[in-house]
Amino acid sequence: MLTGLMMHAPLQISALIQHAERWHGDTEIVSRRTEGDIHRYTWRDAHRRTRLLANALKRLGCQAGDRIGTLAWNGYRHLEIYFATSGSELVCHTINPRLFPEQIAYIVNHAQDQYLFFDITFLPLLEALAPQLGGVKAFVAMTDRDHLPDSSLPRLLCYETLLEAEDDQFEWPSFDENTASSLCYTSGTTGNPKGVLYSHRSTLLHSLAIALPDALDLSARDCVLPVVPMFHVNAWGIPYAAPMTGCKLVFPGPKLDGASLTELFEQEGVTVTAGVPTVWLALLQHWKQTDYRPSTLNRVVIGGAAPPESMVRSFVQDYGCHVLHAWGMSEMSPVGTVYAPKFKHKDATQEQLLPLQLKQGRPVFGVDMRIIDANNTPLPHDGVAFGDLQVRGPWICSQYYERERGAEHSDDGWFSTGDVATIDSDGYMQITDRSKDVIKSGGEWISSIALENIMMSHPAVAEAAAIGIRHPKWDERPILVIVRKNGQSLSREEALAWFEGKIAKWWMPNDIVFLDELPHTATGKVQKLKLRERFHDYVLPDA
Ligand code: AMP
Repeated sequence: MLTGLMMHAPLQISALIQHAERWHGDTEIVSRRTEGDIHRYTWRDAHRRTRLLANALKRLGCQAGDRIGTLAWNGYRHLEIYFATSGSELVCHTINPRLFPEQIAYIVNHAQDQYLFFDITFLPLLEALAPQLGGVKAFVAMTDRDHLPDSSLPRLLCYETLLEAEDDQFEWPSFDENTASSLCYTSGTTGNPKGVLYSHRSTLLHSLAIALPDALDLSARDCVLPVVPMFHVNAWGIPYAAPMTGCKLVFPGPKLDGASLTELFEQEGVTVTAGVPTVWLALLQHWKQTDYRPSTLNRVVIGGAAPPESMVRSFVQDYGCHVLHAWGMSEMSPVGTVYAPKFKHKDATQEQLLPLQLKQGRPVFGVDMRIIDANNTPLPHDGVAFGDLQVRGPWICSQYYERERGAEHSDDGWFSTGDVATIDSDGYMQITDRSKDVIKSGGEWISSIALENIMMSHPAVAEAAAIGIRHPKWDERPILVIVRKNGQSLSREEALAWFEGKIAKWWMPNDIVFLDELPHTATGKVQKLKLRERFHDYVLPDA
């Protein structure tokens, strides 16, 4: 082998914050704090405080590879923890506070977190859980002494007090780029959560990929506000891609309602934002009620679940925003595909592009994907054949943390996503279902997502979920469980009529059920399993 004559520079997370300080030092990071006010500083300040924290972690006795937990909203202190831990060879373990308390205790103990940093809003949660968290050496409240509430929490430290005691000189160590950098547990709907352990290398490659023009298109001319939490797959990688590209960053803290987000969009000149459909639903309602029009926002990233067509239309047609529909998962750091048109689409109208935009997008470089049938045979990329979606690449998990390798990781190097999808000849992937949610009728598959999308396009429908109900002849038949919008009326017959002409006859739901609300997971996805349990003994009208 003739070896290339290039320098060996390991891809390390510390390089990101150093780059941001050196070349974008006066670019701002603005945070709505849990204390209630707005905090602003720069990448230069962020790096300085990150070094203070790295020294504090050292003084606390943290050793390479130790996991440091966080229970925190999106904010500048959380950002400092991201960089101080990973940069000094520790693992930043972000914990989703919306999980059930037992799951949180399980996660902290499974990860063996040495220290747990938390926003003061989570103090009552930790006070209740503390007896189960004996392995945690200390709990660090992310606030200053003045805002530290009285508490029964044992081993309590104060973040700002820790930093005050430190020096801002810290040399980031150099180490192997495959070293673990952060840890995030998936909020599976069954069984215990599973840990995905990211590396410095995977994080940097993922950041490069998501900043690309056909992905999030991030640059030093952008001001990005991640609504997606830093405890959910590292806010989709934005806290790393921002210092890489020199973006201004705006953190919304705990306030994710339409009015609070809109205020930050306007005050800070936000150009890009990212979040799940549930958040955007509330935002659009607020915009409509207040006759608001965004003045600087031009890109809205929607991922985590499929957006209804009406949402995409509204952002594009009513508010002039580009919608970047993205798909991925915790196991994929998370970004796998993003919607962007191609050169061949240059003359297409917005209306012509809409069906493409509703698909989950094209793979970004670094992600390889295929769909397979039950015999493991790859299916054609014709936009029609659908099968189990598998992926592979340098930022896709090869095994869960401290667990035996499971069937989802195949011997030939693919990861089964658990999604069912089509891929068309241009590479646009469309999710038709979760493999466990697909409705199997007479040996054929009915896409629950397709039914839900149609139902959600009805103006009176706030949310809809399609599930399979046992049927003596067909094995399973679909029903639609619907939540109506406040003050809107919709009858069973009107709901069924909405499907006429939009789907094949045999996809027609056999019944409609109205509920006041649907059960959701900690990451805002409808809990189909709960719904299926609830409707386990449901008898269809024609059964
Ligand atoms: P999580 O690991 O919690 O991010 O969940 C990942 C799962 O969310 C994926 O496997 C998909 O089932 C679902 N998901 C993510 N993005 C989308 C999307 N754009 N459309 C439909 N489902 C999505």
